[in-house]
Amino acid sequence: MERPASVFVNNMDYEAVIGLEVHAELLTASKMFCGCSAEFGAPPNQNTCPVCLGLPGALPVLNRRAVEFAVRLGLATQCEVRLFSRWARKNYFYPDLPKGYQISQYELPICVGGWVTLSGEEGEKRIRLARIHMEEDTGKNIHDPLNDVSLVDFNRSGVPLLEIVSEPDMRTPQEAGAYLRKLRQILQYLEVCDGNMEEGSFRCDANVSVRPLGSEKFGTKVEIKNMNSFRHVERAIEFEVGRQLRALEEGEPIVQETRLWDPEREVTRSMRTKEYAHDYRYFPEPDLPPVRLDREWVEAIRQSLPELPDARCLRFVREYNLPTYDAEVLTSRRDLADYFEAVVACGVTPKVASNWVMGDILRAVRERGLDRDLRIQQWPVEAESLAQLIQLIERGTISGKIAKTVFERMIATNQPPEEIVQREGLVQITDENALLSEIHQVLADNPDKVAEFRSGKEKLFGFFVGQVMKRTGGKANPQKLNELLRAALQSG
Ligand code: ADP
Ligand code: ZN
Ligand code: MG
Repeated sequence: MERPASVFVNNMDYEAVIGLEVHAELLTASKMFCGCSAEFGAPPNQNTCPVCLGLPGALPVLNRRAVEFAVRLGLATQCEVRLFSRWARKNYFYPDLPKGYQISQYELPICVGGWVTLSGEEGEKRIRLARIHMEEDTGKNIHDPLNDVSLVDFNRSGVPLLEIVSEPDMRTPQEAGAYLRKLRQILQYLEVCDGNMEEGSFRCDANVSVRPLGSEKFGTKVEIKNMNSFRHVERAIEFEVGRQLRALEEGEPIVQETRLWDPEREVTRSMRTKEYAHDYRYFPEPDLPPVRLDREWVEAIRQSLPELPDARCLRFVREYNLPTYDAEVLTSRRDLADYFEAVVACGVTPKVASNWVMGDILRAVRERGLDRDLRIQQWPVEAESLAQLIQLIERGTISGKIAKTVFERMIATNQPPEEIVQREGLVQITDENALLSEIHQVLADNPDKVAEFRSGKEKLFGFFVGQVMKRTGGKANPQKLNELLRAALQSG
């Protein structure tokens, strides 16, 4: 981590203490307590019914899939998954909350304990999870300053959410960022949340305090809201830590409050004083029975978990003998790791496959915005085709340079590499006589350069290589060309 973990103020070293509350919208087809579509992006108020509009007399029915998703995350983060948990009403007034309360979990959440492991230069660090609980999302207020009105869209009302509460275990903004990225990666591997911070399906509130280094006691914390990118979270925490340290320096008390991040001015601003649990008048939800899970069902979910990012990264290093960096990039997404393994399964050297996947494939994926989907539907080229291309290089049919051209054609035409190579005559020239005739022509055309080379200007070798490549359209076998050219230049 590039930033010092402590700062010197008032003759003492201070450290930051950070705990994060993450809201993850679940990728269920329907909402938490009704059959409405949970999909993002529909016209306003289209996905609504009496339940999610909070109309009197409408009764909630629990979405089993949402519970399964909560269990998946709990198991993937080593939590204790409770076989008995309960719903609670969290009461507050706001226009985007039609019932006047949110159905959530309070004293008996579905998952407790557990942790997320961060790995950095200084080794591994566990960020403990206090709890994971299920709840429903609110609607969305849309403010229209031009017409001086506020509108409410209830499409999001009742969308299933997991709230993931960390212990205050992070000490730097970078560590908070790393935790968020890791948590998002796990959610995406599990395919329970798409992790889209801009669209709000992965949201984070940051709790920040400072304390003298070595002190056991926590300082007064401030909660920051309204950050919709990883960068904003890190910047907001950084600003907030600085603000609290300046306050201490000036002898001002730190007030427990909720502050909003202002992304334009890059400052946090006081929004309201801290609310306490009793402000919400929590009580058990009378319209829903407690959640009782079958032990066998939980075990079946455990068996169905995919290989998770850390395990997969380690296996890539071990099994394919890849550098850690490669393994990290390749396992950053589950579909990317699957793609890489499909290429290797065709019999390609893993490190060569890794170079192509991390380089050309990822570039093409990003250029086309394909990585915006949780799972890439259509790769720029199929894994088998990439493997065939790599095999053409490994067998010496085409040069690595020509392969880049073939790759572009494959993307454009969707044709197999052999066909492109045959049709466009891209097969490498390895025939000695053919190469020699090109070499002799180049030497004959450049007598001055030949003389210079022979009198010691060895750097000119590259020039001759370039000339022959130009004449052969880049198809000369580089190794053969080198040998023959050197011999021809020396035998003069
Ligand atoms: P509250 O009662 O205010 O909701 P919680 O104990 O439930 O507080 O914690 C909410 C979040 O704040 C958790 O992520 C927790 O790790 C974090 N947190 C608690 N105390 C502190 C502190 N002193 N500094 C920073 N973060 C804290
Ligand atoms: Zn509904
Ligand atoms: Mg709390």
